[in-house]
Amino acid sequence: MARSVWYVPDRVFTAVDDRILEGHAVEVADGRVGAVAPVGGLPADAAVERLPGLTLMPGMIDAHVHLDLLAEGGRFEALDEEDGVLAVAVAAHARCALLAGVTTVRDCGSRGRTALDARRAIELGWTEAATIKASGPSLTVPKGHCWPFGGEVSGPEGCRRSVREHKAAGADFIKVVGSGGGTDNTYSWQPSFSQEELDAIVDEAHTLGMRVTVHCLCGEAMRRAARAGADQIEHGQFIVEGDGTGPVEPDVIDAVAAAGVAVTPTLTVALVQLERLDRAGDPVRLDRWKEMRDGWFDSARAMHRAGVTLVTGTDAGWLYVDFAALPREVAALREVGLGAGESLRAATSTASRVMGLDGVGSIAHGQRADLIGVEGNPLADVAALSRVRWVMAGGRLAGPSTM
Ligand SMILES: [Zn+2]
Repeated sequence: MARSVWYVPDRVFTAVDDRILEGHAVEVADGRVGAVAPVGGLPADAAVERLPGLTLMPGMIDAHVHLDLLAEGGRFEALDEEDGVLAVAVAAHARCALLAGVTTVRDCGSRGRTALDARRAIELGWTEAATIKASGPSLTVPKGHCWPFGGEVSGPEGCRRSVREHKAAGADFIKVVGSGGGTDNTYSWQPSFSQEELDAIVDEAHTLGMRVTVHCLCGEAMRRAARAGADQIEHGQFIVEGDGTGPVEPDVIDAVAAAGVAVTPTLTVALVQLERLDRAGDPVRLDRWKEMRDGWFDSARAMHRAGVTLVTGTDAGWLYVDFAALPREVAALREVGLGAGESLRAATSTASRVMGLDGVGSIAHGQRADLIGVEGNPLADVAALSRVRWVMAGGRLAGPSTM
């Protein structure tokens, strides 16, 4: 075993529980966490690196990004380019995330092999970026929301075949577009897949050891996802016919809670969009998005109250949401009622558990040394998450000077 280094920050948040430890050091060796121990008890010959003013915590996890997309307000314009071009965009966006303290990103839809191949280049160390977990093209009905990624599929047998092909291609999980999404000829208030199709997707994925998460913008889509036994729901909104925001449907919330389905509310999308529309002076769309934001937050609040596990995801790449936006989502989760420690865990250990990730999301013996140092105390001040001053990925310091 290589010689270990003990990092001594002002505070440690392990995300194993909600405590902030003071006077503690974190040992890193061979790219892994060794021990967390009181500074007074370190070996006499320990190699020590001080991180004054910082809280050391696990790298954050963004459970919902689209690394192919550009965060420039458009939709799928980037997909005019060839796959090789997109793969470079994927790696560049994953690097933006890393430098913002997001050490793992989960890509919830990208074209072909673009995210899968960039994932490989990052694993090989050819470029320094956040670890990617990727679904490949999200499964969608013919010409359904996100069809330009190439994941159109139909019928229970077609769905099973597609899941098997995703597995063979190396996808880490299955992303399903379970309703429209406000894109051309897709309707957010309508579920897309039948119950039979969703059941087939989840059954096949689980047989192959893959988790399933379902994009849902309406109550019926969530009801079907819960019934199918999906692991997770993305967005979780109650859009109604005509594209208005409907009231929270308590029976849907209860079904999601009873089925133990976790939810990624992606509230950042609304917050970023509102800022943009406000600046652009677009009162009609501003009112529409205010209504959407309020309904979206109400839904997340009701889910949290019902005991649904919430995790952080931003939908980065989509509209104007950039790949460094995750601290906003943590703050939004505080607003819908999560406690300070609970919201930090939603971005670290809870996200890792919900997504079935191995070795990331907490500071504990044997975990991958994906660590960040933030200025201040994030438990007392969530804005500290935006002050990332030190990033380590797999035991290697990351940043402009390390390449
Ligand atoms: Zn998305």
